[in-house]
Amino acid sequence: RIDLRGVSRRFGRVAAVDDVDLAIEPGEFVTLLGPSGSGKSTLLAAVAGFSPIDEGDILVDGRSVRDLPPHRRGFGMVFQHYALFPHMSVAQNVAFALRMEGLGRAQSARRVGETLELLHMGEHASRKPAQLSGGQQQRVAIARAIVRRPRVVLMDEPLSALDRRLREAIQIEIRALHRTLGTTIVFVTHDQGEALALSDRIAVLDHGRIVQLGTPATLYRAPASDFVARFVGESN
Ligand code: ATP
Ligand code: MG
Repeated sequence: RIDLRGVSRRFGRVAAVDDVDLAIEPGEFVTLLGPSGSGKSTLLAAVAGFSPIDEGDILVDGRSVRDLPPHRRGFGMVFQHYALFPHMSVAQNVAFALRMEGLGRAQSARRVGETLELLHMGEHASRKPAQLSGGQQQRVAIARAIVRRPRVVLMDEPLSALDRRLREAIQIEIRALHRTLGTTIVFVTHDQGEALALSDRIAVLDHGRIVQLGTPATLYRAPASDFVARFVGESN
């Protein structure tokens, strides 16, 4: 369980994240949805540990992770730009994330193989990133994020660089991973349709604040404000 309590982050005079409270249950798929500049990435980076916070606290299973560096928080991360190692094969890129796990060679290879299969990338294991499409590269980045089987995966617009068809295909895979592995996912997007399709709950952000938190059905049927109504209704 992740608890955000009064989390704030300012850049000069801009409150990028403004007093955010949010509790995420184990196994939940929660999306931070909002227009450009609403603070989605800053909030996710604060959870991940890449961006310090000015006020508030972030608890994981009741313990503050506020002062822990990213690698000690135990989260998997996927960004918009996949940043794979160009000189390594697909399998080596994914195995790299396992290097600190202390698994034996055979065990590590098995885990990498299973993970690539989950993302339908098994047959491409020995290719280099440059020999893959954008969608395939993003699947490798997702494989890298889940190969350690983290309980929580944080994703910042992982699909926004992809065309519509690929986006829909990978949405289905992310949803399947979430179900099969029971992973908690905190997902960032500015795409209303994507948020409605994927999420258990959506937090709508505006100027660094959560203006509504609810299930897709609730946001759609009972938006709390004109802003939410306009923003969530836009894609339909
Ligand atoms: P997008 O959909 O465009 O990715 P976002 O919702 O992720 O937007 P953030 O990147 O979190 O928005 O930015 C929130 C606010 O904080 C914006 O006003 C942005 O200009 C500001 N901001 C973000 N990072 C910095 C920074 N490093 N220095 C100064 N201001 C920043
Ligand atoms: Mg962003």
